[in-house]
Amino acid sequence: RLSPDEIKALVRTVPDFPVPGIQFRDITTVIGHPRALASSVHHLADMAREGGAEDIAGMEARGFIFGAAVSIALGTGFIPVRKPGKLPVEVIGVEYDLEYGKDRLEMDPGAIRPGQKVSIVDDLIATGGTALAAIELLRRAGAVVEQALFVIDLPDLGGARRLREAGVDVRTLMEFE
Ligand code: IMP
Repeated sequence: RLSPDEIKALVRTVPDFPVPGIQFRDITTVIGHPRALASSVHHLADMAREGGAEDIAGMEARGFIFGAAVSIALGTGFIPVRKPGKLPVEVIGVEYDLEYGKDRLEMDPGAIRPGQKVSIVDDLIATGGTALAAIELLRRAGAVVEQALFVIDLPDLGGARRLREAGVDVRTLMEFE
C-alpha cells in the first residue's frame, strides 16, 4: 500500500486552470496509477470504517470515483449526489457557491433510510461549499452526517474548518498550501 505522502507525489499540479492564478490539483495521475488508486481507496475506507459509516455519498463527478470504490471496500451502498437535471425522479436540491462560480446539487430523497449514518467522499475540499451543500441535502433527506473524507485538503481555503463548525469530522489524506 502506498503512503499518503507517496500518493501526494503523484498528484499533478496544473497552473492557471480553470482560470488564471488557480493551481489545479489533478487526481487523474493518481487514479491512473493502479497502486495509488487502490491505496487511496483503502486509506479512505479505513477512515470511513472508523467513523462507523453505514453508507457512502459521493459528489459528481470525481466523488463518484473514490466514493463508489470506498462503498465496495466497506460493503455499503453508494448514494450519488448529482449535478442538476440528471436524476429521473423527484429530487431535492440546493444552490451553492463554488471556488469559481455557482452550482447546484441534487439527490433522490428516497435514497436515505431515516437516521442512516452517511459519510461523504470527494477528491478535494477547497472552500467547503460543495461538501456543505451535499451535507445539507443528505441531512434534509434524513441522514446523520458526521464524517467527510477527501483525498486532498486545501486548508488555506477554510473548507475543513467550515465543515467542523457544522459538526462534521473531516479526514483527508494530504494537504496542499
Ligand atoms: P469547494 O466547494 O470550494 O470545496 O471545491 C471543491 C470542489 O471543487 C470539489 O468537488 C473538487 O472536485 C473541485 N475542485 C476545486 N478546486 C479543485 C482543484 O484544485 N482540483 C480538483 N478539484 C477541485
